[in-house]
Amino acid sequence: MTQVTTHAPASVSPNGWPALVLNADFRPLSYYPLSLWPWQEVVKSVFLERVDVVAEYDEYVHSPSITMRLPSVIALREFVKQDRQPAFTRFNVFLRDGFKCAYCGSHEDLTFDHLVPRSKGGRTSWENIVAACSPCNLRKGGRMAHEIGMHPSVRPHRPTTFQLQEQGRKFPPNHLHETWLDYLYWDVELET
Ligand SMILES: [Zn+2]
Repeated sequence: MTQVTTHAPASVSPNGWPALVLNADFRPLSYYPLSLWPWQEVVKSVFLERVDVVAEYDEYVHSPSITMRLPSVIALREFVKQDRQPAFTRFNVFLRDGFKCAYCGSHEDLTFDHLVPRSKGGRTSWENIVAACSPCNLRKGGRMAHEIGMHPSVRPHRPTTFQLQEQGRKFPPNHLHETWLDYLYWDVELET
């Protein structure tokens, strides 16, 4: 591939100008983390004709033979199926439960609670684990929640990839380029 140089201002990191990557159905490949590729990878994929350019930055890259505007949104030409089951990880449990305690709603000091305590045969599984803050977790101890008047606000379940993706939409990253918003959120207003 031809070597390209960017005329980005010095304050912009070389890893800047990421493009939002959409699946072939024009939905983001992933919301959380948001599917972003560095511009170098984007330019390469454009030349390999693996992606279509949907929107562009006001920024150019130059090589000896070509000048092109940096894409800000691209779409894969081939649809990527997303039917894998989400992994049972700490992060995915937090994401499923919206990064808040199932008992008091706190976002601080999060850990996990076994609904049926391990001492009573409770398993470490999607169906028996909820996000909980340390104080609630401590208060509940090895008891069943209802025994001490605690009530989890969620009925834990194994989420689908789609459900986790939808959850992820609620936690947008700090930086959103205006050309991304049409493909991400209905409810974010463009800053003018
Ligand atoms: Zn709590």
